[in-house]
Amino acid sequence: MTNPENMVAESIRVNGTVQGVGFRPTVWRLARAHKLTGLVWNDAQGVGIQVWGGAQQLEEFIRSLQRECPPLARIERIERSSMAIGRVPEAFEIVSSLAGETQTNVTADAAVCSACLQEVNDPADRRFRYPFTNCTHCGPRLSIIRSVPYDRANTSMSAFPMCPDCRNEYQDPSNRRFHAQPNACPVCGPKVWLESSAGEKIGTGGAEDALAAAQKLIAAGKIVAVKGIGGIHLACDACNEQTVHRLRQRKQRYQKAFALMARDIAMIEQYASVNEQERAALHSAPAPIVVLDAQGEAVASGVAPGQATLGFMLPYTPLHHLLMQRMVSPIVLTSGNRSDEPQSIDNEDALSRLAQIADYFLLHDRDIVNRLDDSVVRMVAGDIRPLRRARGYAPAPISLPEGFAGSGQVLAMGGELKNTFCLLQGGRAVLSQHMGDLENALTFADYRRNLGLYRALFDHRSAVIAVDLHPDYLSTQLGQELAQAEHVEVIGVQHHHAHIAACMAEHGMPLHAEPVLGVAMDGLGYGADGGLWGGEFLLADYRECRRLAHFAPVAMPGGIQAMREPWRNTYAHLQHAFGWEWIQKNFADLPIVREIEKKPLKNLSLMIERGLNSPPASSCGRLFDAVAAALGICTETQLFEGQAAMEMESIAAPLFQSQSGNPYPLDPPRWEQGIAIVDFRLMWRALLEDLTTGCDPALVAARFHQTVSAQIAQTAIWFCQKQRTGTVVLSGGVFQNRLLLEGVSARLCVAGLRVLSPKSIPANDGGISLGQAVVAAANIMGRPEKQL
Ligand SMILES: [Zn+2]
Ligand SMILES: [Zn+2]
Repeated sequence: MTNPENMVAESIRVNGTVQGVGFRPTVWRLARAHKLTGLVWNDAQGVGIQVWGGAQQLEEFIRSLQRECPPLARIERIERSSMAIGRVPEAFEIVSSLAGETQTNVTADAAVCSACLQEVNDPADRRFRYPFTNCTHCGPRLSIIRSVPYDRANTSMSAFPMCPDCRNEYQDPSNRRFHAQPNACPVCGPKVWLESSAGEKIGTGGAEDALAAAQKLIAAGKIVAVKGIGGIHLACDACNEQTVHRLRQRKQRYQKAFALMARDIAMIEQYASVNEQERAALHSAPAPIVVLDAQGEAVASGVAPGQATLGFMLPYTPLHHLLMQRMVSPIVLTSGNRSDEPQSIDNEDALSRLAQIADYFLLHDRDIVNRLDDSVVRMVAGDIRPLRRARGYAPAPISLPEGFAGSGQVLAMGGELKNTFCLLQGGRAVLSQHMGDLENALTFADYRRNLGLYRALFDHRSAVIAVDLHPDYLSTQLGQELAQAEHVEVIGVQHHHAHIAACMAEHGMPLHAEPVLGVAMDGLGYGADGGLWGGEFLLADYRECRRLAHFAPVAMPGGIQAMREPWRNTYAHLQHAFGWEWIQKNFADLPIVREIEKKPLKNLSLMIERGLNSPPASSCGRLFDAVAAALGICTETQLFEGQAAMEMESIAAPLFQSQSGNPYPLDPPRWEQGIAIVDFRLMWRALLEDLTTGCDPALVAARFHQTVSAQIAQTAIWFCQKQRTGTVVLSGGVFQNRLLLEGVSARLCVAGLRVLSPKSIPANDGGISLGQAVVAAANIMGRPEKQL
């Protein structure tokens, strides 16, 4: 190549998600297209490039790099510096990764891309109807990795040596499958088959055969276990009442909504409304379950009992596409497990654990190494927000704000329920996929194993371990054990401080930002004073927080039983507000009062009085339970936390913005030792009067949501003025309630305040590990330098 007259040489550095996503081949292709020579490589900081060529071509190259960035890549920053021209290379080359590379290039699993799907549907293509087709832009990633570095030998694809055709693709930088570790074809790759629960193989064995047979069985009312990318699901016809009922009985999951898969958007739109953002989420690479408002035709009533929403996803692997192609109605696609156990991922395990649930098993021989539940998102207050962050999102790192780059490495253990853990290092936070409820032994074992895997993948050596203050959380205990074994410090982080700090970090608030007003509304978290908190107004920065106000603590008679039996909270709240005798005198005829009268009230009031197994909690979640039970929603029992509140939200939604859905009167705050206590006496009284006059429970529910929204907003606005802060951070699981988040946000915005709420991490306990990590990091960095 003759050197152009205006020859320049530059060293370029690209940061962001640029490894394991086909970035180097893109650089290679574009450099050649612009007649540049040089080299590209991966290293600890991202991608490095050295280029020689014409000044103008180089500018065009940079522009095209941003424009033609591969689908799964995300460029955060491009740094350029000129170099001496020196000896000009002959060609442009991809250099294999440099030694000392510490950054993993494991990315999140991604839904099949359109190019692969086209091949799967093309009779002339060698991958026609092949269920495991993938490329650099799509396919399994975290779900198949065993150890570092991320190459085929360290994944469950090691069992499938590539055929010559696949190897050629893998080695050709101009090919879409260059260095695609899970690359496979019908000749060399994984195979799918169908068998009955008795172990009998169905059909002659081809993929086409197995998928067609599975489709027919589902349509005929059978329950089929389907092995996917991150776990084994249970599938059945979503419009068949009997089958859905049978699935609930067998799975012993009686209430929680089932997720659905539809062939395409048109099919979803027969059953639910889909707006533009929801459509984009459905089609996105993570391909999550999107919670949509039900509308139009109905699926079986057992799919989402008590809910006005349906959780839909689209097919995200070729296998799911092929299965759904001939389906005329949506299918239930729920995790393959019994009630609270983690989802099954292993063929043998599924065949034994799911034998009593599934009639047939559609399995394959590519091992799922890491369980990844389907992610769940919902559009609330104008944004798509994760309720569960797992497949498709983890382990994509979250860039931390200014000031955190030099934090050192922090491991945050997360909470107890909906657990995730978090690794903080190099100015980035890696949040694990949703692990689940650690009290389940299988989940806890999975959590321990994943901790090990992530620490290996990201070459993580914790300098500090952050834990929740709750001494009984298994995550706290394990964190303390690890810290002791590794001789590192443990930092306890208050639960609600973690909620608020996580949201601050996600929104890019710098390390030394002014304090914000944090409003944390959730079920229960261990307070700094050893009590149970959950309706908190905090003045918080990353380092510390101060409790300014909270909901009035109300006893939870029976402790954990009060979480399962909502009427206990109604009793405790009414007892707290008025004393039960006054209720008996004034509202004896109300159904809820008559229900409660049947209970052993003498015992209960004695327990509360003496503080026996009746811990007081300033919990917003329990207030929702108490009101739901008063309206006859899950009065006796709820089968999962939030069930009563979700059902109440469903009935309140249509009336929330109506004229008659106005708030009940608000109590003025009362003060105890400089902290404002928020009561709901006036609301309770008006609400009981509404019920006495036969007011529609849906309207009472709407007015209740408006009241809590108004009360939270009013308290927040008052403290913002007093503390001279203009930013309010809303987080905690109760803010997954759409009406509440929208009701509070709208009022705060009208008051001219900046409102932040979680958008890329869950508002529930799935987000607290990020908060623990940044709080611990801020505390270490805030310490004075050691004097030598
Ligand atoms: Zn692809
Ligand atoms: Zn092959």
